[in-house]
Amino acid sequence: MKYSILKIASILGIKNQNIAEGEISLLLTDSRKLSSPQETLFFAIETKQNDAHKFISDLYGSGVRNFVVTKLFPEWKSFTDVNFLKVTNTLHALQKLAAYHRKQFSIPVIGITGSNGKTIVKEWLYQLLEEDYNITRSPRSYNSQTGVPLSVWEMTENTTLAIFEAGISQPDEMKYLEPVIRPTIGVFTKLGEAHQENFSSQQQKCMEKMELFVNSNVFIYEEDNKIINQSADRMVLSQKSFCWSRKDPDAPLYIRKTEKNGNKTTIHYSFLNFEYSVSIPFTDEASIENAISCLAVMLYLNVKPGTISERMMKLEPVAMRLDVRQGKNNCTIINDTYNSDINSIKIALDFQQQRKVEQSLKKTLIISDILQTGLLPKSLYKHVAELVQQSGIEKLIGIGHDICENSEVFTVREKHFFRSTEDFIRSNTWKEFENELILLKGARRYHFEQINELLEQRIHETVLEVDLDALVHNFNFYKSRISPQTKLICMVKANGYGAGAVEIAKTLQYHRCAYFAVAVAEEGIELRKEGISTPIIVLNPEVNGFEELFSKDLEPEVYNFRILDAFIREAERRGITNYPIHLKIDTGMHRLGFLPAQIPELLERLKSQKGLKVKSVFSHLAASESWMFDSFTQEQIDIIDVAHREIGEKLGYPVWKHILNSAGIERFINAQWDMVRLGIGLYGVSASGLNGLKNVSTLKTTILQIQEIPNHETVGYGRKEALNRDAKIATIRIGYADGLDRKSGNRKGKVWINGKYAPIVGNVCMDLCMIDITGIDAKEGDSVIVFGENLPVLEVAESIDTIPYEILTSISPRVKRIYVKE
Ligand SMILES: *Cc1c(COP(=O)(O)O)cnc(C)c1O
Repeated sequence: MKYSILKIASILGIKNQNIAEGEISLLLTDSRKLSSPQETLFFAIETKQNDAHKFISDLYGSGVRNFVVTKLFPEWKSFTDVNFLKVTNTLHALQKLAAYHRKQFSIPVIGITGSNGKTIVKEWLYQLLEEDYNITRSPRSYNSQTGVPLSVWEMTENTTLAIFEAGISQPDEMKYLEPVIRPTIGVFTKLGEAHQENFSSQQQKCMEKMELFVNSNVFIYEEDNKIINQSADRMVLSQKSFCWSRKDPDAPLYIRKTEKNGNKTTIHYSFLNFEYSVSIPFTDEASIENAISCLAVMLYLNVKPGTISERMMKLEPVAMRLDVRQGKNNCTIINDTYNSDINSIKIALDFQQQRKVEQSLKKTLIISDILQTGLLPKSLYKHVAELVQQSGIEKLIGIGHDICENSEVFTVREKHFFRSTEDFIRSNTWKEFENELILLKGARRYHFEQINELLEQRIHETVLEVDLDALVHNFNFYKSRISPQTKLICMVKANGYGAGAVEIAKTLQYHRCAYFAVAVAEEGIELRKEGISTPIIVLNPEVNGFEELFSKDLEPEVYNFRILDAFIREAERRGITNYPIHLKIDTGMHRLGFLPAQIPELLERLKSQKGLKVKSVFSHLAASESWMFDSFTQEQIDIIDVAHREIGEKLGYPVWKHILNSAGIERFINAQWDMVRLGIGLYGVSASGLNGLKNVSTLKTTILQIQEIPNHETVGYGRKEALNRDAKIATIRIGYADGLDRKSGNRKGKVWINGKYAPIVGNVCMDLCMIDITGIDAKEGDSVIVFGENLPVLEVAESIDTIPYEILTSISPRVKRIYVKE
């Protein structure tokens, strides 16, 4: 659907302004996701971390002509044929426009909120109802203040049912989302602890969420939850309730009992005095509750119980995330098994585009037929072809009947089409893939996991799973604590604290990290090779690596006269002037750096040369995490402050100053100055015990064998420990060669398996170790967590008297890193 820009101006209440003509079909809040500039309206949203007004010049350069802003900059005066719609709050303007769009439809709209399960319930409802309706729904979990309006904007003339989720993290947010979604059917999934820190009580959070349903016709929720029930009463929502209960036979939907049987669960229920049952192919509690929510919605929509049970048995798990894996022949595979519809294709292509820094890799898309869009195949594939064109795909593999029929609309130079996944696999063309960045995007019924299986390189079943969303969350978390003027240096030394420097840097570069720091030149060179253009500091440069430093634009830390003199000589020999360096001052750590007493001599040398220019003066804190040494830390801060002033005055040009590491940022924010250096916090560990970080890395392995071992037997090398009871012992595929510290043996360390802890028994072997799983429900092949969300690195470190840094950086290179992203 298109709106004229004039119409949009009037919706936003803008009067008396000259407006050039234009038709808008796309709303944009993230300048990196630009696709069709002429049809785009950009909302310059200001947040604590960012002010999007700064991207407007670039967007203008790319052809965007319509902007919603809160202020006007003089440099935009020269722009021609451009509309600036000036409002007081761009986010509210976006919401207002989406709310107007929403009002154009009188169709059922399902609004979902709750603490967990929103996305699953939304996706399952989609799976269950897609035969009956043309559904528009939030892509992935677009449920925020900006995500919701962007989702609602996707409703078109063809939409006959819409499903949106809304999430809030702070009081007062829901009142802005309610008019945007204006659900006719409200669903409350589950109430949990997430985002509790910003609310005074569970009840307050619950009532705040329920604001979404004040205008809906029906409200679906679980009656047995006391807080939800009380909140519904207090908000006078109970009159229109359609609640379900396991205890109250008078509830509109009474769940008589649930029965688990093998890998399915049967739910017996009463509805309008009749008794029915449905089965779902899941047995976990969360899935059962989510299925009951879906059941209630289906019953409310008058779907026949027989149809419901047919469809429920076919429910499929929802892949919540995209993952990136190493493929054979130097390919990288982006695996997106999420439902294949236009929205999710756009998102996946964006993600691939965002990784275009891998210039050396050819961009390949393997895509199946797209099901259930309500569009005629001809116009559907024309649209897909446009998206494919815009995102610079170089090679296309289309799989399915419809895409074959429409193969001519694709303008990609190299294209191949197959009727089925089996045809593609039989063709053997996949064996020729080499140096490609392959996006796998198929509707569920095409079973692209078979293709993934063929392309993926499998080395070792022990993997380190790195959650890139959590990384970005932590990055933004620290960014929101520092002032917008302070530059954030992200430490990616030691292979990004073990998580993989290249992937980490690519992700953070995309999120506009100001600087990276590595320990040695080789690490910086590797990043440059992979397309990282962000400035990089090398902390411990050596004299014989200068050539590469200069040619790769790496900025060295200079910490003594030997390095300084050698570097000056090299720069002068090459005729280089003003090469950026960072001066390290030793303020008490006594590791590297000039002592304060050496500063006069240092200044003399610096003033007598032209090769180098000091970009920053910095120091490193020795005990920033420990309150016992706070006066020492303060002294270090004072010393660098004085040193910086002296150096700046004598050099006669501005020089930046920095000292804070992660714990420093957490505890000495007044010393943030020009830059801060974020290390371990980025990877999810707070040295000072701060709440709000997300776990980034999960070390996972699998059970190879389970045996019942009788009392008094010993387990493992050296017969270190005799069992004091009969025990169930599992052997898992990780040993000290993978980075599992040998000190974790003999019950010092533990792992997390199927929701329980299991101690490591006996000595850790090179490639394996044994765990005691007596009383734990587990089978061979089950996944075992060595550290992760439920077993924090900090705890693992404490169990063997070390620090999280060592645990993270000891993981051997043979452990495959897998990157996941929602
Ligand atoms: C490693 C390092 C940091 C980061 O320290 P964290 O405690 O991980 O935040 C900062 N500055 C320097 C010089 C470092 O070597």
